[in-house]
Amino acid sequence: MKKKIAILGSTGSIGTQALEVIDKLNDRFEITALSAGSNVNLIAKQIEKYQPKIISVKTKFDSDVLKDRFPHIKCLYGEEGLIEICKTEEIEMVLVAVSGKTGLKPTFEAIKSKKDIALANKETLVMAGDIIMKSAKDNNVKILPVDSEHSAIFQCLNNRTQVKHLIITSSGGPFRTSTKEEMENADLRSALSHPRWNMGKKITVDSATLMNKGLEVIEAHHLFNFDYDKIKVTIHPQSYVHSAVEYIDGSIIAQIGIPSMHIPIQYALTYPDRTEGIETESFDFTKAGKLEFFEPDLEKFPSLKLAFEAGEKGGTYTVCLNAANEEAVFAFLENKIKFLDIYNITKEMFDNYKPVFNADIDSIIEEDEKVRVKTKELIEKYKRG
Ligand code: MN
Repeated sequence: MKKKIAILGSTGSIGTQALEVIDKLNDRFEITALSAGSNVNLIAKQIEKYQPKIISVKTKFDSDVLKDRFPHIKCLYGEEGLIEICKTEEIEMVLVAVSGKTGLKPTFEAIKSKKDIALANKETLVMAGDIIMKSAKDNNVKILPVDSEHSAIFQCLNNRTQVKHLIITSSGGPFRTSTKEEMENADLRSALSHPRWNMGKKITVDSATLMNKGLEVIEAHHLFNFDYDKIKVTIHPQSYVHSAVEYIDGSIIAQIGIPSMHIPIQYALTYPDRTEGIETESFDFTKAGKLEFFEPDLEKFPSLKLAFEAGEKGGTYTVCLNAANEEAVFAFLENKIKFLDIYNITKEMFDNYKPVFNADIDSIIEEDEKVRVKTKELIEKYKRG
């Protein structure tokens, strides 16, 4: 029997790589639903190739265009479209590969509808980790990490009562060896030229500030249920060690491989099985050269420190962190603010934020929207200044 899967965000970096993985896993998956934002051309090609029963795009206009072209499939749009996909009876697994806060509500609905989740959207856990993990437990649903570091920890974690630290590795991003002055004047192109991983724009900028690592720390806290003082970040520029677990007896178990998202995507989809897949190349210890490891420089990358602080404070502090950062990153991508102002804006929002504790999904979304409105106002000030 083929597993019926929905891919939310099928035209993005993770979505397209997931389809490449599925192409090589003959007879294991049936693509029942796909969703995209505004890349109508690509989703149209995907519809022709995979023949899903349901698709969803961002706008009604695009949905109608696709409906004309593919009258036999159900064409939806907007958040309601994603939610309807997630509630579709026959779907067994949902790969959440949309970017940003778009992932939250659909993921929550998919869990309540008892679908297993392959989660590539870290914002969902950053915003609502407590609720999402509790709901997954109550509904007996698996949350399988797609993020490479969390896939690594997931593979290394075998006895959680004897864990000393989770060690999350980071390439250090494009500015690892840059000076603060160079970062001050960094343009879009240098921030977007990530040395090791090929990803979407938002996450690539987050990798340049190390906010991505900070969000991953919060993600790991929720996924694996460890306190923040048990989570460490280590800079590893070669990105072969994808993360590790240190046990109380001094043993460290690490997951190693070439830096390819195909491998963690595939493991989430085929778990607990391993199968031959798209990656035929494997890591060769004898050819790898020097593997380096450093402490993160929190002076140069204060976003990482701020993320730990947000996580430890709890409540909706992480909602504020995520929303303010995301809006600031968008402003940077539109050339409105300087690179270092991404942190300055996020920090200013964070310091003035009044959190809500024990929030439900709706009040989390409300907080998120409030923070975004205020962040946009603050961005205007930074533009003028
Ligand atoms: Mn990652």
